[in-house]
Amino acid sequence: MEINIVNMFPEVLNLYGDRGNIICLQKRCVWRGIKANIFEYNFGAGPEILKNADIVLLGGASDREQSIVYSHLLNVKELIKSLIEDGLVVLAICGGYQLLGEAYIDASGRAIKGLHLMDFVTKAEGKRLIGNIIIETSLNVFPKTVVGYENHGGRTYHDYQPFGKVLKGYGNNGEDGFEGLIYKNVIGTYLHGPLLPKNPHIADYILKKALERKYALNSLEFQKLDDTLEYMAHNKVKELYM
Ligand code: GLN
Repeated sequence: MEINIVNMFPEVLNLYGDRGNIICLQKRCVWRGIKANIFEYNFGAGPEILKNADIVLLGGASDREQSIVYSHLLNVKELIKSLIEDGLVVLAICGGYQLLGEAYIDASGRAIKGLHLMDFVTKAEGKRLIGNIIIETSLNVFPKTVVGYENHGGRTYHDYQPFGKVLKGYGNNGEDGFEGLIYKNVIGTYLHGPLLPKNPHIADYILKKALERKYALNSLEFQKLDDTLEYMAHNKVKELYM
């Protein structure tokens, strides 16, 4: 088996080392004898990279970088929309997550147009929501907890399935108790890198979804990996902050 992972604008959308998620996915494939090809989608890239993608990562960014990237992504909006409807696996983090919505309104009230793949708006207001975060995910995985770090000024409100319920931290808006968004095989979340290294069950969920789609499999049984260290990190966060 073989998988194509596309990192969108890695030089710009890489706040807090979101790129580490790609390395994690790649390693978990290699350890299982699955070939993982990593592609970078940079300014001026054509649609081919996206058409052949099995997993797409949209990392986080500052407001300024966000506005630069957004305008470039609008060129491939329709393509991304149809791929998502077809089940493309997307992990969109913070600024990348906000980009899936209609717009991001920054602290000065300026609206940066998003891809509008989903019906929500994000608005920056008040103090930034910063700190370690623990959620209970709505995905069918074990363990149910997902640990990470968040730092965003934007508040997102939506009616989609959330990525999870906030156990500690702020999540989408610090008010309704939900974090992130799930739509088909898209995961939108405020949890920054290293999201996947500390949550191997989410990494495997993403890989499974992508391989099942690519090879038209109903359910794929993965070879188990030794995740002792990964879960030591995961459990340490829970011990410290829950
Ligand atoms: N600019 C966005 C916000 O502050 C996203 C920041 C980020 O990706 N960390 O809400």
